[in-house]
Amino acid sequence: MSSKSRFKGCLLGSALGDAVGELSFECRDEGELKAKLREKDRLRYTDDTAMAIGLAESLIEKKGEIDQEHIGETFKENYKEEPWRGYGQGPPKIFKMVEKGKRNYVECAETLFGGEGSKGNGSAMRIAPVGVFFSISENVYEKAIKTAEVTHAHPLGKDGAGVLALCIGRASLSDKISPEDFALDMAERSETEVFGKKLKKVAELLKSEVEREEAAQELGSSVLIEKSVPYAIFSFLKDPKSYEKALMNAVLVSGDSDTIGAMTGAVSGAYLGDKALPEAWVDKLENVSYLKKLSERLFELRKE
Ligand SMILES: [Mg+2]
Repeated sequence: MSSKSRFKGCLLGSALGDAVGELSFECRDEGELKAKLREKDRLRYTDDTAMAIGLAESLIEKKGEIDQEHIGETFKENYKEEPWRGYGQGPPKIFKMVEKGKRNYVECAETLFGGEGSKGNGSAMRIAPVGVFFSISENVYEKAIKTAEVTHAHPLGKDGAGVLALCIGRASLSDKISPEDFALDMAERSETEVFGKKLKKVAELLKSEVEREEAAQELGSSVLIEKSVPYAIFSFLKDPKSYEKALMNAVLVSGDSDTIGAMTGAVSGAYLGDKALPEAWVDKLENVSYLKKLSERLFELRKE
């Protein structure tokens, strides 16, 4: 599998997961979802992909450097162009604060939620370009944290983004993975006790071969980062050889389906490459040529 295919698989896989997850809100089961996917002419992604695009654009413009202010400004510009993408409350609040005052993005993000910072999953939902771009660097986790801080100051908001970036990076460099070991390894690499425990639980659930509904119950599938990243990782590890199956695990349980779809899709796409994504769905994905262009530019930039 070429690295180029994995870059594309990761970005497209995340966007497609977001769009399919969004569509799944209207469906009760796999049959209904697949019928909807056949019916629709266009698959629309949400804020998850809009922000992933922002991260990719900033990385490209800054030649692979993470510039927190530039990332924040790119997010803001994209938000202003398409405020209807389904953004959470946090980012628009931060944009306004930065515009009004003298503080920078990181400082504004620290004031949210009574000074606790956000522990929503927004820092992880957009991490695809960071995970795949820094996969060969030793500090993919730290790089991800820096991008998280632009909007998410809570330790869990940061750890979740770091862990998911590690998963994407590892998947994009592997030809064969052992699901339980993968989960245990991620548990070791996480920096909060909460994620450490959750990721060990992922390994246990994989070992006992539970159904996805039970796993979602145990791990959570909400907008909170510690209640969505672990289940997204489980969704991938339960069916690592099939993008479609992994995505169905992600989106067919009730919860924050577009984001869990985006996160699972990013890891699975990075592991399997773009050819593993169902062609009929990719063809309907909006802005697919721009997403491909971004992934190619990121790939070229890493070679430089
Ligand atoms: Mg969304």
